[in-house]
Amino acid sequence: MPSLLIKNIGEFFTGDIAQPVAQVRSLLVHDGRIAALDPPEPVQADRILDAGGSAVMPGLVDGHVHPVFGEWTPTQDTQGWIGNYVHGGTTTMISACELHVPGLDYENLDPELVTSLAVVTASTTGRVRWSGAKVHAGTVILVPGMTEQHFDRLAAVGAILAKFIFYPLGGERDEALRYVRWCHERGIRVKIHTGGVSRSGVSQICGYDVLAWLQPDIAAHVSGGPIPMSDGDLDAVVDRTSFWLEICSSGNYGSTVRAVRRLAEKGQLARLTLGTDTPGGTGVIPRGMLRNLLLLCSVCGLAPGEAIAIATGNTARAHGLDVGVLAPGAPADIVICGPVEGSTGASVSDAIAHGDLPGISYVLIDGEIVVSGRSRQTPPPNRRLSFRCGCC
Ligand SMILES: [Zn+2]
Repeated sequence: MPSLLIKNIGEFFTGDIAQPVAQVRSLLVHDGRIAALDPPEPVQADRILDAGGSAVMPGLVDGHVHPVFGEWTPTQDTQGWIGNYVHGGTTTMISACELHVPGLDYENLDPELVTSLAVVTASTTGRVRWSGAKVHAGTVILVPGMTEQHFDRLAAVGAILAKFIFYPLGGERDEALRYVRWCHERGIRVKIHTGGVSRSGVSQICGYDVLAWLQPDIAAHVSGGPIPMSDGDLDAVVDRTSFWLEICSSGNYGSTVRAVRRLAEKGQLARLTLGTDTPGGTGVIPRGMLRNLLLLCSVCGLAPGEAIAIATGNTARAHGLDVGVLAPGAPADIVICGPVEGSTGASVSDAIAHGDLPGISYVLIDGEIVVSGRSRQTPPPNRRLSFRCGCC
């Protein structure tokens, strides 16, 4: 693959919550990965992208999507949703289970069906880079009666996540805890639906009490998806647990502000992750991940670099993925953007802090340009970029 130099970077967001912004002026991509930050001059590169003072950040990681078949979703009768999300800056998506398959009978699921559904989805939707995006599909809906062989089948197709949503968690705990162990033995992480009943109408209600004994890797949409747990439970989850906590676009705004501010006060933003929880009843939201980080900054008071790190590096690490950070050796999943004409301030940081959408000009996934010149989902940035082939 030809090498690429991105130069004249104005703002640089690392995706690492420990140090979310850095003074980096150029970035060299080689073989799909970041070869160097500020490589010494003269730099040899096959292609040059002059960012003209734009901002560079990692591709956004949507930790909670519900794919069905490729770019098609029946939830809002939409074709091409993944490509539209890529134009909103999302480069990696993680399925929170494929429950929207038409005809699925939530009240009569059995181990063979849920395992086969995850295997088929991993082997179809999860096999292809739709619009260039990295879609991790094949997240099993956990049900009673599964054996270790079911988890072997999931591991064999590269599943990274399993989900408690319909599983009855009110009774005997041994089987559920065994599932968590079987997942961990195979490198599969465990996510659980939290809060009230979902669009399905039959998901299990989950608050602090269940989370405290189950100890999942990630508590999904803790501020609601769509209905949040009680305020008291939410405070207890923040204060008394240590696993990853996810906030989604499908949530309750008041609970989101409550959770994010409490995590920030307690110095626990490193365990916060983001997702859209779409396609679903909330819609198909190409700018959903951008809107999440705008909410975190303009309403919850986080710094722009922190919010970007939560939307990228945090969410990737929660799911065991190596994307979401801009550091030597990391996959070159990159968003280049700038403030939109008329937006507050002179930088992307200013715009995001005010809650203004940035304009995306380029998106790269593994060093491949998948959005070139301008996004079809954001207004254009006010800075001009230039791209050319040949040595600088
Ligand atoms: Zn969901």
